[in-house]
Amino acid sequence: MSPDCDVCPDCLKELFDPLDRRFRYPFINCTNCGPRYSIIIDTPYDRPNTTMSDFLMCRECRKEYEDPSDRRFHAQPIACPVCGPRLKLLGSDGAIADPDPLAGAIAALQQGMIVAVKGIGGYHLAVDPFNSMAVRELRKRKKRDEKPFAIMTDTLRRVEDLAHVSPIEARFLSGPERPVLLLRRRDGNDIAREVAPGNDYLGIMLPSSPLHYLLLGASLRAVVMTSANLSDDPILYRDEDALKELSGVADLFLTHDRAINAPCDDSVIRVFHTHPLMMRRSRGYVPRPVQIPSIARDVLALGGELKAAICLAGGEQGFMSRHIGDLKSPATMRSIEGTISELKKLTGITEGVVAHDFHPDYHSTLLAGSLTGLPKVAVQHHHAHMASCMAENRLEGEVIGIIFDGAGYGSDGSIWGGEFLVGGYSGFRRAGHLREMRLPGGDAAAREPYRMAISLLYQLYGDAVFDLPLDVLRGVGKEEQKIFLQMLEKGINSPVTSSCGRLFDAVAGVLDIRGKMSYEGQAAIELEGEAERGICEALYDFGVLPGNDGLILDWLPMMRSVVDDHRAGRMRPDIAATFHRSLAFAAAAVCREIRSESGFDRVVLSGGSFQNRLLSEEILTQLEADGFRVFTHRLVPPNDGGLALGQAMIAGRSQVCV
Ligand SMILES: [Zn+2]
Ligand SMILES: [Zn+2]
Ligand SMILES: [Zn+2]
Repeated sequence: MSPDCDVCPDCLKELFDPLDRRFRYPFINCTNCGPRYSIIIDTPYDRPNTTMSDFLMCRECRKEYEDPSDRRFHAQPIACPVCGPRLKLLGSDGAIADPDPLAGAIAALQQGMIVAVKGIGGYHLAVDPFNSMAVRELRKRKKRDEKPFAIMTDTLRRVEDLAHVSPIEARFLSGPERPVLLLRRRDGNDIAREVAPGNDYLGIMLPSSPLHYLLLGASLRAVVMTSANLSDDPILYRDEDALKELSGVADLFLTHDRAINAPCDDSVIRVFHTHPLMMRRSRGYVPRPVQIPSIARDVLALGGELKAAICLAGGEQGFMSRHIGDLKSPATMRSIEGTISELKKLTGITEGVVAHDFHPDYHSTLLAGSLTGLPKVAVQHHHAHMASCMAENRLEGEVIGIIFDGAGYGSDGSIWGGEFLVGGYSGFRRAGHLREMRLPGGDAAAREPYRMAISLLYQLYGDAVFDLPLDVLRGVGKEEQKIFLQMLEKGINSPVTSSCGRLFDAVAGVLDIRGKMSYEGQAAIELEGEAERGICEALYDFGVLPGNDGLILDWLPMMRSVVDDHRAGRMRPDIAATFHRSLAFAAAAVCREIRSESGFDRVVLSGGSFQNRLLSEEILTQLEADGFRVFTHRLVPPNDGGLALGQAMIAGRSQVCV
């Protein structure tokens, strides 16, 4: 039971060898490569249990399949132009659009059309990334404002034309998993601005199937390859669904008759030191298990609400599912249920216990409630993050956890997200947290950083906040000002949070980098982008104060300096860089206090804010300089996509009362 794998060098050679019988055959594969997870319907992994069961092997394929000395001996998806799947190019009416599907698709892309392409784990929408008009049209039809699109190109050299690639990044790009890598954009490349507006990074991947190699190459240098879905629904993978749902989006469909059984989005990673920093763990990695410390009972862990992924764990293995998405539509809820039964079938693990988030209103919590007859364990969100990082590092005992995150339901019912926890799988205590601030307007504050900026500035300047000559306040009218002051004074519709993500939003707002976001994390991503270009000369001040619920990392002095520097005209990149490093110093100071009182010197870093590579680097460096042993994520995402692993670990070790 392996993940889907890119095309191996032997098959690639045959693909472009005019004398080979599989010359330019888009479904070439062998025992070393090709689709696996996405085509398996049942175990054991044999052809009749895959979506290849419909295709009867021809004599030559059968000979290779049965010959122990052949590279295709027992290659279950074995196929050739005589007996295997075939390509076709359809119009949005479902009729054949061109008798030569590849040539037709390439010509359409060159003309700026949008083509849905059936890949390994589902459909992508492809468009010419050098054609602004075409990319803009895709954004319009997909109703996606600014969230970056990934690009696919066919050689490392071409990746290097577009972005800076380190030798380690090159290794991950060319690895069999074929993830999307976030790479720093090279100045002066001719990729349309609309592909990743306002972003210093480009998401780039190399081909994951022979079809991609045939599509790229001579005539197309690169294509946008973005998951074909509507808004945040799961990726489309069934032909009839794709044709129906994408009828107003794609002009043409480059498709084929090999069915996808398990959909799987592209995985997305950055490289941190020598290992992957997973943003999304899916195709190429799933269903490979994560080795974890042993647990006493089998667990089904349902994860969180955003970037949902589930985990089935038993013994010393945690099987994380593919990326499911944000659990807010009926389609994602159906997808999570399908994923559960599919993973159960593949792993043979049946849930003894169900683990879910402590949040009473998460869809995953409601789903847990509907699974009757099974014991449940509710796990606090940031405890799960901590346990997730411990589990993949196979740590036992107790540690300090710096959990810098967006939002999670706290033990006291308030919104946590900038936490210093102490504990292990069996329990935790809150040893410290970021100074709290209000979320004026509730949920809206998580989408609109200018609200967080006002909330933060209010803590510094009180009623005088709107007298400040800051750009971020310029668009706030008199009426709105009054409402803000009321909300912040009286706490109306303004819950408090210790969230690290919202603190980053506030800083991005104060510096007028981003007032409103069009996708999750945008402000923090842009703040990090600024900081990477800046220099930190002297650190900003901070405080570590005693509080009712652990120590308080007081960022107020830091923020006063941010505002002063900004007003004095200091460069934004330098302010952003100084903020990152100062926060890291402050976090390390809190850890030193916790160590002197607890004796613990191991620190795990988890939570969505650790997708920020610069922040991870600064905190790691500072903690190691202070003599801590630091553990980071390498196998599962630090964001909520990795949450289920921690939940599984905690529930698997807990004393369950039925
Ligand atoms: Zn191969
Ligand atoms: Zn054949
Ligand atoms: Zn989280």
